[in-house]
Amino acid sequence: MRREVTTTVRVKLHSLTERKARLVEREYTAFQDAVHGDDDANLYSATKQQAGKVRSNKNPRADTDQPVVLRNDCITIEHDEDTVLSSWWFKLPVYNPEKEHGDSVWVPVRVPEKDTHLFTDECIRDSELVQRDGEWYVHLVCKRSVAVADAYDDVLAVDMGAKWIAVSTLLSDRDTTFHGAEVRRVREHYKQLRKSIGKRKVRSGAKVMERLGDKESRTVEHELYQVANELIARAQERNAVIVFGDMTGLRVDNDEGRYVNDKTHKMPYAKMANILTYKAHLDGRECISVKEHNTSVTCWRCGSKNTSREVQGRLECHDCGLDDNADKNGASNIGQRAVGKDITSPLSTAGAVVAQPETQVVLEGTSGEMEPANSPEDVGLTLSEGSPRL
Ligand SMILES: [Zn+2]
Repeated sequence: MRREVTTTVRVKLHSLTERKARLVEREYTAFQDAVHGDDDANLYSATKQQAGKVRSNKNPRADTDQPVVLRNDCITIEHDEDTVLSSWWFKLPVYNPEKEHGDSVWVPVRVPEKDTHLFTDECIRDSELVQRDGEWYVHLVCKRSVAVADAYDDVLAVDMGAKWIAVSTLLSDRDTTFHGAEVRRVREHYKQLRKSIGKRKVRSGAKVMERLGDKESRTVEHELYQVANELIARAQERNAVIVFGDMTGLRVDNDEGRYVNDKTHKMPYAKMANILTYKAHLDGRECISVKEHNTSVTCWRCGSKNTSREVQGRLECHDCGLDDNADKNGASNIGQRAVGKDITSPLSTAGAVVAQPETQVVLEGTSGEMEPANSPEDVGLTLSEGSPRL
């Protein structure tokens, strides 16, 4: 089967002539006016449409800058080895105030060497023009189709949690690894930093906060990529399909109430899921999600929910006597759910889990009762959010 993989390539504009710099700057400013309510802002017509969408979908705060959305049919990137100034050029749609209509400018760009193979016309999607530290960048979105294997020997089940961003268990022998405690440490560190800055009321505190926020998300993101690499390596070793618990279905009025609610809001689960899915698909490996409700309170061995977590980090089953690491227990349930072995909630009846023939997971070397796995939602990497306007 095939999966769509989305990569965002950061392309830097350089050596702009005065005229081109002015046109880019003008378009960017007009876009900000348009997303913040100015209906008369002059923009390239397709870009103006996008501004309307950003305005109605995101209702951006007045003090934020929004990336200019460039529609895919209006942009082109080309390689030109013969030009001295730059070997890559980008066609950027802008409004031309002299001609009083839409126009395009070719601007020189720098492209990371490792990404140049991604650029074919069919793969370019809607992209973004952003400004950062006085420089212009296009976040060029490329989508392509990759083949993923149909059959696997094992399941690597991933449970995302508050203590560890991921706990992974191989279904065959329950071999378990804990990943990414660092993410939590980084978050705590920045939380404390922000607190202390807030108290001292540093001049231009907002700017410092923004830098901190940027640095934190870059550090966390780096950690998430590390965790994803660890998980892929584990899956490769056992030729395993990757399955993770989908955190989006959690309710506030859950057994664990406040804890679970906090858990979903403070940790970057969606990002972890996106990165993991992306890396798995590039590796030619299927990566799917299963609903994670009750996986933390169900005994993986007998399916009973008559369990307790009185001892920190342990799950005890009052029916079969299991005493297990709680995260390992949760991951085991996720793995079982994916192959339809979940005793209390078989895949075929698990609500939102819809079986699609092309996403069926077949395990080789295991006996019978294989059920189709759920359909993975579109977990392509999302475009960046707006950044505070300074
Ligand atoms: Zn039990």
